[in-house]
Amino acid sequence: MQPSLEKLRKFFRLEHENKYENKAIIGGLAKMLDFWEGEARADGIAEEVIQAVISRLRSYEKLSADGRAESLKGLWKRIGDTYPEAGQKPKTQQQPQQQAPRPPRPAQQEQPKKTEDTPAPRPQQPQPQQQQQKPKPVPAPRSESVAGARHSQTPAALSAKLTVLQGVGPAHAKTLENLGLQTLGDMLYYFPRRYEDYSQLKPIKSLFYGDVVTVLGTVQSLFNRPIRGGKSSVIEIVLSDGTAGIRLSFFNQPWLANRLKEGDAISVSGKVDQYLGRLVMNSPDWEPVEVENLHTARIVPIYALTEKITQKWLRGQMNQVVTYWAPAVVDALPENIRSAAKLMPLGDALMQVHFPESQDRLKSARERLGFDEIFYLQMGVLRQKRDWKSVEGRRFPVSDEWLGARLTSLPYTLTSAQQKSLEEIRADLDSGRPMNRLVQGDVGSGKTVVAALGASMVIENGAQAAIMAPTSILAEQHYRNFVSLLAGDGGFLQQSEIRLLVGDTPEAEKEAIRQGLADGSIRMIIGTHAVIEGPVIFKDLQFVVIDEQHRFGVDQRAELRSKGTNPHLLVMTATPIPRSLALTVFGDLDISVIDVMPEGRQPINTYVLRPQERERAFTLIRGQIKDGKQAFVVYPLIDESEKIEARAAVDDFETLSKEVFPDLKVGLLHGRMKPAEKDEVMLKFRDRQYDILVSTTVVEVGVDVPNSTVMLIEGADRFGLAQLHQLRGRVGRSADQSYCLLIPTHEDATENERLQAMARTNSGFELADLDLKTRGPGEFLGTRQAGFASSLKMASITDVPLIEKARTQAQALFERDPDLSQPEHTLLAEAFERFWGEGKGDVS
Ligand code: ADP
Ligand code: MG
Repeated sequence: MQPSLEKLRKFFRLEHENKYENKAIIGGLAKMLDFWEGEARADGIAEEVIQAVISRLRSYEKLSADGRAESLKGLWKRIGDTYPEAGQKPKTQQQPQQQAPRPPRPAQQEQPKKTEDTPAPRPQQPQPQQQQQKPKPVPAPRSESVAGARHSQTPAALSAKLTVLQGVGPAHAKTLENLGLQTLGDMLYYFPRRYEDYSQLKPIKSLFYGDVVTVLGTVQSLFNRPIRGGKSSVIEIVLSDGTAGIRLSFFNQPWLANRLKEGDAISVSGKVDQYLGRLVMNSPDWEPVEVENLHTARIVPIYALTEKITQKWLRGQMNQVVTYWAPAVVDALPENIRSAAKLMPLGDALMQVHFPESQDRLKSARERLGFDEIFYLQMGVLRQKRDWKSVEGRRFPVSDEWLGARLTSLPYTLTSAQQKSLEEIRADLDSGRPMNRLVQGDVGSGKTVVAALGASMVIENGAQAAIMAPTSILAEQHYRNFVSLLAGDGGFLQQSEIRLLVGDTPEAEKEAIRQGLADGSIRMIIGTHAVIEGPVIFKDLQFVVIDEQHRFGVDQRAELRSKGTNPHLLVMTATPIPRSLALTVFGDLDISVIDVMPEGRQPINTYVLRPQERERAFTLIRGQIKDGKQAFVVYPLIDESEKIEARAAVDDFETLSKEVFPDLKVGLLHGRMKPAEKDEVMLKFRDRQYDILVSTTVVEVGVDVPNSTVMLIEGADRFGLAQLHQLRGRVGRSADQSYCLLIPTHEDATENERLQAMARTNSGFELADLDLKTRGPGEFLGTRQAGFASSLKMASITDVPLIEKARTQAQALFERDPDLSQPEHTLLAEAFERFWGEGKGDVS
């Protein structure tokens, strides 16, 4: 593992041992960013990972202990996605070949998975060497291209090498390259990581412990004092401003003795500390006051650093660049858009974002720069949608009579929302364009049947359909569902025309299925990723359904689509998509929302219980089972490497089945069972051979056993909100009152914000918004979204007003001049092309 990751792990572990008190590092975990970032870059760690670490650690301090545990765990998991070796046990061997430092690359090259999703179909223009990564809608434009975009039309000076700067020689230029900085333009777009507001000067007399301030004064005395038996030294200065004096300590900076002497006037900035009851400042930032007050007495930018350069030095260089070149930047955004959106001119924004005159100006600058990012993304998304629609899709019309017959054969009437979605799908299938639709509906809203009916329209017209689910349990369940919906009484298919293909399917059967898919005798295939594995060839695949889309890697989705020619695509998600994301990340998809629950459903009564109240939960379960119902008991998965104090499904299964419910039938399901064993347990539970199913989170996704009415979640504080909501969705699937009982690991956690939110609302949308606000988009929404969000350097994916503003403008412009071919848009067109990468005209 890379040393910087190793280090991260060490501190996380320490922090875990310290009960997440933010003490693993003096001054808080965020302090480690000061050195870690540079080290990570030197290790060649992916920029996205670095950014993830930065943003997590920066907000770490503000979180509750629970939130912190959660945050670090999520972060480590995120790191593990990119660096699987980091997810391993600590003993993992180092792999030197992976450690070769490399310059930061655009994210989509390094991690294609992170940046794309449902691709635009451009089969007529194959780009052989890009095959694998070809579908790349909404890629995450990286700093390089962003910078390139914005100063594309500016004086040649901006593409000048950094060596033109005073004080930057070839060696420094090389160092700056580690930060992705090669040209003056890159520098302009290298935004501060944060700011320190030193704009309030204070007299020393009125300082308080804990203040972060700038003070001006003269050096009264200066001592160099050896410490630790002479191994180190500390320079102690008494600084006085006439109102009082304060002691400054500088550790291990002996050279200061030559730089400063009694009587020198300096300004110092930093935090006021305490030592033996007296106020002190430890190693504050300082500078002589004759010099322009660049580092102090104002809002000071703090940049991400790399080895061998200091904050002060970089800031000085930045000042040079910004002062001379920001005013020279040509603003590609047309004046009318700029004034309609009330935005600061680009040059001013670049100036203010580096060296803000005030918090207000900084805010405007950030808004302007954020607007640009979203605006270009929106333009891309709109163009992509247009391109998508410009390809031909086969038509699959069905008659009202045919559809009517399908509907009457269902065991229930579709809800109005299901009907509407179905009509939308029907229209798409008869539009002559490939469908590219996302069906979004809360857990239990009945998406499956909509997909089944959509698929049957295509099958009715002679083509094939494929449905891909993230787990074999779910695929199996869909299979049974589809068979009974489409091949049962009143169905129009033979059972043999619908098949199930999962990893566990015997090889001989797989072979037969492949044969059937190739010759067309199988018309609908349902399965896991096994469906896309190598040799599967379809005779005529025209309809592709991806269930629980956020569970899939991008490549898998693309691969399934590539098994047909411009097939119609339906992706389904139970993860509610907050409005901001629907507008941005999913802006290229058509969206159907199933926002009505099937008739007779009651809200699930949700309670947070203290661990001591577990008996009450058992009583409720007992009562429900007496009424012929069933119950789930779910435990958090245990990560063996961390001994989190959570109750384990396997351990507690014994107790539950032998001591608590000896008279009831209790089944056990967990991730380490073989798929066939899992299916067997699920089937038995469904057939009521078990009253209670003790399980890990493998039941989270999609499992449908309407007779169960209790969901008891142990260690509930260990789960994310989205997960809790998904788990709860396993019950409440019939007209009977259902219950969700949440028991946290410790009594303190009953106040946990997520658990309280669960008790407060049943609405997945409300919960999603909350989750997005507290944890950011990455965790909640899977890979495409995470990649997208991290491509935004300035804009926040949760900033709905900004997103809407940018979208409105992008849309209006797109309607006027979709190709940006009008002369007044030349600058913009060029900036746009650069933003999305050279030669990638279709943004895909
Ligand atoms: P999800 O949207 O979570 O995938 P499912 O498709 O699994 O939901 O449906 C949840 C349950 O609701 C299933 O048992 C299904 O048979 C049932 N269901 C679906 N539509 C209706 C309806 N219109 N009326 C009654 N029950 C329905
Ligand atoms: Mg489902």
